[in-house]
Amino acid sequence: MRKRIIAGNWKMHKTAQEAKQFTEEVLPNIPLSEKVEAIVCPPALYLENLVEMAKESKLSIGAQTMHEAKEGAFTGEVSPAMLASIGVKHVVLGHSERREYYNETDASVNAKTKAAFENGLTPIVCVGETLEERESDATVKVVSDQVTKAFADVSAEDTKQAVIAYEPIWAIGTGKTATAEDANEVCGAIRNTIENLYGADVANAVRIQYGGSVNPNNIEELLSMEHIDGALVGGASLEPASFLKLVEAGA
Ligand code: PGA
Repeated sequence: MRKRIIAGNWKMHKTAQEAKQFTEEVLPNIPLSEKVEAIVCPPALYLENLVEMAKESKLSIGAQTMHEAKEGAFTGEVSPAMLASIGVKHVVLGHSERREYYNETDASVNAKTKAAFENGLTPIVCVGETLEERESDATVKVVSDQVTKAFADVSAEDTKQAVIAYEPIWAIGTGKTATAEDANEVCGAIRNTIENLYGADVANAVRIQYGGSVNPNNIEELLSMEHIDGALVGGASLEPASFLKLVEAGA
């Protein structure tokens, strides 16, 4: 049985005060269920404070991105070792916004995935097709290719611990969700890709999230699907009540 994983991706939202208030409201209400893992990914600036606040709770705090290098002359960047040193356990990698606006490529996502594991971080590796790719029936090929490249030279043992987020780009922040069946089909194809690379044991363990306009009204149907083990949620994760509903749906 795969443990469900609901992650809120705040992107570039909330002031320090708002981040603190959200966390204060959410912490006492996180379901204690062993069936679900709840993660909030705030801007890097708030990570340390939120990790501290959530220390004795079932809420985990994750990063939205990181650099792949240990350290160096990379102005503005944060390294995997830095994240690990403040108690961060998860990091979102290769989000489509990072790929689009910050030139992240399959190769850099692969380097980051490896660096995450080397530093004891669980990567949430994002993949997904554009609208044009979907309309030309290239979805499964595009997504399988992204997965294969992201996990190149990653051991089976590490891959088993990974989380993959399937996020069709056309569904992010648009209010357009893939149907649960379509999302499940692609998540199944991702699991197949992992099976071809590492065998059934790893494929059955890997957790696959769907992301793209997930909200409290559609989460249950998505989670009822065989290959969907959770959700990566932007807009609907920003309000405590909405975030809690998403986590409760997985509990
Ligand atoms: P959305 O964002 O839920 O606002 O569509 C999802 C994501 O980008 O992870």
